[in-house]
Amino acid sequence: MNNKLKKVNFTVLTLFPELIESFFSHGMVGRAIANNIISASAINIRNFAFNKHNSVDDRPYGGGCGMVMRPEPLAVAIRDAKESCPESKVILMSPQGTPFNQETACKLASAMQGLIFVCGRYEGVDERVISQLIDDEISIGDYVMTGGELASMVIIDTVIRLIPGVLGGDESAEMDSFRNGRLEHAHYTRPPIFEEIPVPDVLLSGNHKKIELWREESSLKRTFLKRPDLFEKDCCSNKEKAILRQWHQELKDWSNKIEKLIF
Ligand code: SAM
Repeated sequence: MNNKLKKVNFTVLTLFPELIESFFSHGMVGRAIANNIISASAINIRNFAFNKHNSVDDRPYGGGCGMVMRPEPLAVAIRDAKESCPESKVILMSPQGTPFNQETACKLASAMQGLIFVCGRYEGVDERVISQLIDDEISIGDYVMTGGELASMVIIDTVIRLIPGVLGGDESAEMDSFRNGRLEHAHYTRPPIFEEIPVPDVLLSGNHKKIELWREESSLKRTFLKRPDLFEKDCCSNKEKAILRQWHQELKDWSNKIEKLIF
């Protein structure tokens, strides 16, 4: 690990630490921990329960169904985690939070020293914890899950691959979908022909300039077909416009040829 890079600390406060621990011990996340690029821990909120039944939830004031996570164990758990890593940002997983996307992931990866994820369960957490101790609320989508654990893992998994040194030499997040407001180009690997479908010739040509242009076109085409909404946020660059103009001309030529055949 490059010593100049700060080591990022991830803490997940949860009632189900086993779920998170298993995630921390596999794949790229496990490798980043083993390589000492990040540190990560899952803390059981129940460790901070203050009554003899170890309960962390209670009925909602005002009545109604479900239970609510009590503020005291959660507050102590958050303060304890902050003591170990004072620079950390405290993020509540919540369907009511800001929708998570690649832009937020990049911001988290570049700005932070540490992240503390608070995973709710039941009907959620007491509002006073949110107003006093939470810096941000993040949602992973407009649907309601039973707990915040999966959401925290989605966010950690996304953020981690953006931290310098986590991806190996052959891997890069630079070209990933959404990095430049577009979807990534198509990928092919061996064999050169699979079920009679060949790999595009240009990818076997060794001509890096042509390969780069093919990838740009592929990325543009996929974005146009699968996620045209992305053009609304990031309008076309001059290079993309040149490609689109060429396609436009080709389509016009096609259209003229078809017209001649059918009219
Ligand atoms: N009653 C809450 C509401 O309607 O807003 C939902 C509570 S949910 C059943 C329990 C916990 O799951 C939440 O406190 C949150 O931590 C987590 N959760 C559920 N859906 C989520 C989402 N889309 N994104 C992030 N966290 C979510």
